[in-house]
Amino acid sequence: MEIVIRKARLDYRHDHKIVDIGIDQGKIVEISERITQRGEEEIDANGRLVVPPFFNMHFHLDSALTLGDPKFNESGTLWEGIRIWGEKKKKLTEEDVINRAERVIKWFVAYGTLWIRSHVDITEKSFTAVRALLRVKEEMKELINLQLTAFPQDGITSDKDVPELLEKAMEIGVDNVGMIPHNEPTREDGVKSIDIAFNIAKKYNRNIDGHIDETDDPNSRFLEVVARKTVEYNYKGRVSAGHVTAMHSWDPAYRFRILSFIRDAGITVVPNPLINITLQGRFDGYPKRRGMAPISLLLTNGINVALGHDCIMDPWYPLGVGDMLQVLFMAVHVDQLTGYNDLLRSLDLITYNGARAWRVSNYGIEKGNDANLLVLNAKNEIDALRILGPPLYVIKDGKIIAKSLNREYSEVYNKGRWEKISFFMDIT
Ligand SMILES: [Zn+2]
Repeated sequence: MEIVIRKARLDYRHDHKIVDIGIDQGKIVEISERITQRGEEEIDANGRLVVPPFFNMHFHLDSALTLGDPKFNESGTLWEGIRIWGEKKKKLTEEDVINRAERVIKWFVAYGTLWIRSHVDITEKSFTAVRALLRVKEEMKELINLQLTAFPQDGITSDKDVPELLEKAMEIGVDNVGMIPHNEPTREDGVKSIDIAFNIAKKYNRNIDGHIDETDDPNSRFLEVVARKTVEYNYKGRVSAGHVTAMHSWDPAYRFRILSFIRDAGITVVPNPLINITLQGRFDGYPKRRGMAPISLLLTNGINVALGHDCIMDPWYPLGVGDMLQVLFMAVHVDQLTGYNDLLRSLDLITYNGARAWRVSNYGIEKGNDANLLVLNAKNEIDALRILGPPLYVIKDGKIIAKSLNREYSEVYNKGRWEKISFFMDIT
């Protein structure tokens, strides 16, 4: 066997059993109490938790690591962020986007994320970011499973060229169709924009990945339209709704009524806890609303929920290092998922639920599955949420691709060589 992991602790799904895990030819070939054969590489997990790798289901690679360029967001609001990004995006070069995206992807990999779904703003007509991120996707495919979503930041109906730009993005290889109906000028424009997005998705056979109802306005109710269209276009299981922060403020009677529509449409709701808790509630005095979609209500109603990091060191969010455990940490606080069983199951929000939305098969620590796994620096789920930080080892398709050295550095195997990467960041 190429790799044997000794004394790995499995998660709550496997009653926290301690096992040896054998890996060969990219697959998990044995899970048993004791593997007698020696591995070419031996990892002593010493009772540490081994889980499948993480999913970041909503991200913006094009703006990542631009903090302070051209200026800092002093008010911390969404609107100042959009203004700053509006200035920055006119000056993008492919090289700048590639350098920042590659750096942040290596951080994510070092912190155990192997699937990232990133938006890319397609309203900048030069398509600089689109071309750059398509290159990153191709050049880093050994390291990361990257999907790109064509994101009409300023709306689909606001500019007559945007539908065409969305189609152009599909033609050159962007994966999913995005939308932002709550940002369109009127409710009617919002509904129209959803139809345009579904039409394009259908034409190119792509999935839908929207920014939906990202506002505290309880009258923002586009998720119901998305659910209706999902059924109409026969897109069940192919639609993700990012943010849906308005759901936090919806009238309980209305929220209750549409839960079954969302479930029946097979929509995955993707909260972005770090950003939602930061950007929502900005018009409130005290008390300030939390403004995150109600995760536990959605889960108990059979709706798939997966999490996104959304932003790292950009005009909207000044922090972050690519640790999906930080995202989960925030989610369990904001939605009060602190019961013992809630904590154990919360890991699903960045693992199995992402796999379901992405439709990854052979996922999970089971014999015969693809050997994608993390040896966490934790002995159980509670440790993982308390201690955070990078896994000791990240294994992708049966190969070790990242190792944690200390709080400053990890090593990542990129483009045929081991590279030492730092999580420190100079702020300009
Ligand atoms: Zn977003």
